[in-house]
Amino acid sequence: MTLPKPYLLHVPDDKGYFGAYGGSFIPPNLQTEMDKIYAEYKRISKSADYVAELRSIRKNYQGRPTPISYAKRLSNHIGGGRIYLKREDLNHMGAHKLNHCMAEVLLAKHMGKKKVIAETGAGQHGVALATAAAYFGLECDIYMGAVDMEKEKPNVVRMEILGAKVIPATEGLQTLKEAVDKAFMAYLEDPENILYCIGSVVGPHPFPYMVREFQKIVGIEAREQFLDLLGELPDHVVACCGGGSNAMGIFSGFIDDPTVKLHAVEPLGKGTNELGDHAASISHGTDGVMHGFKSIMLHNKDGEPAPVHSIASGLDYPSVGPEHAYLATEGRTEKGAGATDQETAEAFFTLSRFEGIIPALESAHAVAYAIKLAKQYPDASILVNLSGRGDKDLDYVVSKYPELLQAPVEGR
Ligand SMILES: *Cc1c(COP(=O)(O)O)cnc(C)c1O
Repeated sequence: MTLPKPYLLHVPDDKGYFGAYGGSFIPPNLQTEMDKIYAEYKRISKSADYVAELRSIRKNYQGRPTPISYAKRLSNHIGGGRIYLKREDLNHMGAHKLNHCMAEVLLAKHMGKKKVIAETGAGQHGVALATAAAYFGLECDIYMGAVDMEKEKPNVVRMEILGAKVIPATEGLQTLKEAVDKAFMAYLEDPENILYCIGSVVGPHPFPYMVREFQKIVGIEAREQFLDLLGELPDHVVACCGGGSNAMGIFSGFIDDPTVKLHAVEPLGKGTNELGDHAASISHGTDGVMHGFKSIMLHNKDGEPAPVHSIASGLDYPSVGPEHAYLATEGRTEKGAGATDQETAEAFFTLSRFEGIIPALESAHAVAYAIKLAKQYPDASILVNLSGRGDKDLDYVVSKYPELLQAPVEGR
């Protein structure tokens, strides 16, 4: 493993490559627009106005810095390593996604755009973008598969309350892929006035790079807070990994510290290696290109994105950001970090009952894996990025896992 140092200044390169991964595989007319966004981002992100405005928003609107909480009762209960939580669930709107959405829409404003658009699968990215658009007073169109709209009604309503227009994709299977296609088509009709906002560290260059830059605030804060709290760095840093934005956010703070082990926790779903039963792209995927970038991904026999499954809708993506593919192949992130649906549901209740914190099902994957690490390394300190709160998941969890709700409460 020979990563350049300081890592964040050297990776990716100017074409958006993280080693062999990343880049941009899109039609020429879209490439022209991505080149413009990259050039503008490089210029605006260095301007004092932009930096000052973003800093003020982080503090006065989002509620940053978010604290680190020591999960004392949980750690004592496990009787092993000590678990600490970076509380991204305390961000305005309850998740880390606002970190990049506020910065993306601020960028749109500085670029003189009138509208932001995006696709959304389960609706979480759409809600965060609709929030940011309301704050800045920009129009917001969210493209969503008609089937997904039916499944995720509360998020559709949230977006509409926030003043966004939710546009159904009624083509093909009427899910995420059709929504992506439709949103890109709309974007190309009026790129002068619109900024396309991607919801994770995925997509063509410059998005994996920009979204990491927008999320790295989590790692910067966490490193300083942890040192302040304990006088040393954590032994392990753990985050769930869908596209990988919250994981890149917290990893960014520790990537140059070789003693800190980084774990990107993948959704193991039903716990089999069967394609369609999980969404563990790093563990089970192969190199390929989809959605405009090169990474590790899950393909079916025809090379198309494979069907995936996870109880956390924010994690069911058949690939992973190119930077995660790079860090995994370089050995900077640890192998085999994952949690099944069942382990995740159990961790959801364990954290709720021992700490009074109800995590998002996505974040509960990271908690489940931290519990495994704590048992394995009794002397270790383990920092978890608690990417979001679980209010959105309550109905699903109690209907799917009634036995966990009815289980006796331990430890009091
Ligand atoms: C969307 C979401 C995720 C997954 O996205 P990443 O880009 O992998 O971080 C994780 N946690 C929460 C709470 C989310 O809403």
